[in-house]
Amino acid sequence: MSTAVLSLSENFDARTCASEINLVVIHAISLPPNRFGGPGVTQLFTNTLDPQAHPYYAGIHHLRVSAHFFIRRTGELIQFVDPELRAWHAGVSCWHGRERCNDFSIGVELEGSDTLPFEAVQYEVLANLLTELCERFPIEGITGHSDIAPGRKTDPGPYFAWGRLRRCLDAKGHARTATLIEPEGAAEAVEEALMVWSFPVSERPD
Ligand SMILES: [Zn+2]
Repeated sequence: MSTAVLSLSENFDARTCASEINLVVIHAISLPPNRFGGPGVTQLFTNTLDPQAHPYYAGIHHLRVSAHFFIRRTGELIQFVDPELRAWHAGVSCWHGRERCNDFSIGVELEGSDTLPFEAVQYEVLANLLTELCERFPIEGITGHSDIAPGRKTDPGPYFAWGRLRRCLDAKGHARTATLIEPEGAAEAVEEALMVWSFPVSERPD
């Protein structure tokens, strides 16, 4: 199993049927929005976000949400909820006609936004994690939050390169996992351009 730092969230409950974990949902999040490297996401998922710390936090600190995994810009992998249990990441959602995707999915958050490229190491860590999850659970699909909650959610956003994730899995010899990815993504040349990120990991241009 990938080495994950545990940061346990209280925001979970039992699945109604543990044998039906069929989907992995990819998300992107950053707190404050478009800022990387801080403690905001971990605090949100552990109900310790300070509403005074940033104006944006006042509107979200009360939310009881979580994901199973979080992959930082540095590639650090943090686990908040055991994948056998139900995390609260998808909200109102529908996948292939099945509603309430939290019931049967595993949620993976990437530290990122709708406006900036992801880091190469995040694709690497995600590919390893997906392969392990697909070996452990009867996963039938890998998709994005925006694909199961269209019009309501935009993450992981236009900068998430699905083709790059596919190629990353293929290169590791995990072609079967790659075939489970559902979104098409941008053309390869566009995706390569989206990977160019010339700023230090914790910074962004204003
Ligand atoms: Zn999301």
